Amino acid sequence: MEFIDLKRQRARLEPELSQRIEAVLAHQSFIQGPEVAELETALGAFSGASHVITCANGTDALQVALMALEIGPGDAVFVPSFTYTATAEAILLLGATPVFVEVDEASFNVDLAAAEAEIAAVVDEGRLRAAALITVDLFGAPVDGEAARALCDRRGLKHISDAAQSFGGRLDGRRVGTLADITTTSFFPAKPLGCYGDGGALFTEDAELAARMRSICQHGKGAAKYDVVRVGLNSRLDTLQAAILLPKLAIFGDEVERRHQVAQAYTERLLGYVRTPLPPAAPDDRSAWAQYTVQIEAGQLGGRDAVQARLKAAGVPSAVYYPRPMHRQPAYAHLARRPLPVSDGLCERVLSLPMHPYLTDAEIDQVCAALIGADTGALAPRSLETAA
Ligand SMILES: *Cc1c(COP(=O)(O)O)cnc(C)c1O
Repeated sequence: MEFIDLKRQRARLEPELSQRIEAVLAHQSFIQGPEVAELETALGAFSGASHVITCANGTDALQVALMALEIGPGDAVFVPSFTYTATAEAILLLGATPVFVEVDEASFNVDLAAAEAEIAAVVDEGRLRAAALITVDLFGAPVDGEAARALCDRRGLKHISDAAQSFGGRLDGRRVGTLADITTTSFFPAKPLGCYGDGGALFTEDAELAARMRSICQHGKGAAKYDVVRVGLNSRLDTLQAAILLPKLAIFGDEVERRHQVAQAYTERLLGYVRTPLPPAAPDDRSAWAQYTVQIEAGQLGGRDAVQARLKAAGVPSAVYYPRPMHRQPAYAHLARRPLPVSDGLCERVLSLPMHPYLTDAEIDQVCAALIGADTGALAPRSLETAA
């Protein structure tokens, strides 16, 4: 069994994938070829975002967003401690200061009340300007954009949404891409919408920000070809990757629905054995389910290490995302301002199970039986309706 089975997806998408790749090899516009603009239009239609700019990867997307907001030395950028390294890295590369914030145990996402308290503390100290909040839709579930917006408006911050794991998700009738001043995503192969290499994109409703971000991605280009109006980067999505993403995007809505069903099937089988991730709050909300992540207490079912060993023995891959919070990383620990016990605790308990749209019910049974330490036949899925 694969943790993420891209081969099954490829089998579904042939021959379109090969035809798209062939077309690029024939026209040879490898940089900024027609597929790039076609993809940006399609991503806008899918997400509802007014402006879409593709770039080289999700880490660059974060850096470009921060550069467009002119964030640099003397600026504090608030980020959850329980996240992937890239979120903090982009801030530090620009000379700004990441301020690590506690997360919520059930949603894995930033605790907005803790963020507000930390913003107030930084403002009181008067050393740094409270410039921006980066929320991270960890494992695919979108952060409450309205609540984040209200907090940022109250405190005069910009809101960036790191949606590397949540593109394809939706909340309160709005799709990821429209829930922040700037949304960034990644097309790393293992993300819900992945290409066959590195890729990323930025989304905004603000035309001026969009123009600035497009310029930054092209060496700070001005109106004429060799005008340089700001310091920028070389951050572009290859035409080949855009060509690969186009047929994948065409089936992506369907794949997100299937991920949602797989998550429900897991939860029905695992409820009562381990702490399962939160289901969507409203029937129409969707997580992109980049990961299906359970929490295993010390000693529960033998403890996390024993569960992982049992899964491995049954041929089931699993992963710990993430074993260490940002405020304890050797490179960032000097920035820690206070203990963050929820982030610490999650790192001890989380375990992510195989998750992709092509998991069969039999495979889901196999994973759950190995996790619980039971025979597949002993599994009695509970209806989520009666369990809730
Ligand atoms: C994957 C990821 C990134 C970085 O994306 P790349 O395309 O690998 O640079 C940033 N933030 C989060 C939360 C991610 O999961």
